[in-house]
Amino acid sequence: MLKRWIITAKNLFFPLTCLNCKAKIAGGCLCQSCQKQIKFLAPPGCYSQIKINQNNLKIISSYSYRGAIKTLIHLFKYSHYDYLAAALAKLMIEQLDKIGFKPLNYDFITSVPIHPYKIKVRGYNQSKLLAKQLANYFQLPLKDDIISSKYIRNSQTKLSLEKRKENVYGKFTAKDNVKGANILLVDDVFTTGATILACGKALWEKGANKIYGITLAK
Ligand SMILES: [Zn+2]
Repeated sequence: MLKRWIITAKNLFFPLTCLNCKAKIAGGCLCQSCQKQIKFLAPPGCYSQIKINQNNLKIISSYSYRGAIKTLIHLFKYSHYDYLAAALAKLMIEQLDKIGFKPLNYDFITSVPIHPYKIKVRGYNQSKLLAKQLANYFQLPLKDDIISSKYIRNSQTKLSLEKRKENVYGKFTAKDNVKGANILLVDDVFTTGATILACGKALWEKGANKIYGITLAK
């Protein structure tokens, strides 16, 4: 908590270096050259699709997960830079507007949960912070307690694709009140899609109608 406060305070009062390359900047969190590095994913690259039984999970991702955006996401996720939520969500919204995404006929926004243990360590669920900003912008209710994570997910990054799928499969449960609902499901990064798919499955099992995934990066 103290560490988070110190980082926030430091960046409020001395926010004059780029978070990616440490160059001096006048404001914001990145220098112009690092901003230019951020690669928007234009259609069709921003769309992913996973078919499972009769269900179809479509996902929009806004940026390529590399360079400055990767640095920002790492700081956001692992180094208590939760104040970056607003800036990162703004980037997502810019991109969603650019490709003409309009969440018509959606009932609410939710996010991929993280285990309570991780919440304790990290202090927040980064995807939930993004979902909150998107809910504000799209004027949709935020329901962040719909899906819960049953077990600790081991850090996924060192596992093979098959192991990753095994690792998250069936480890989420959804509440019963999602029957017939059209849901926007927010996650930070789309890697194999295993995590967002496991959440989708939990929602479909409880009768959700349509699910659209939105991630910041891919
Ligand atoms: Zn820079």
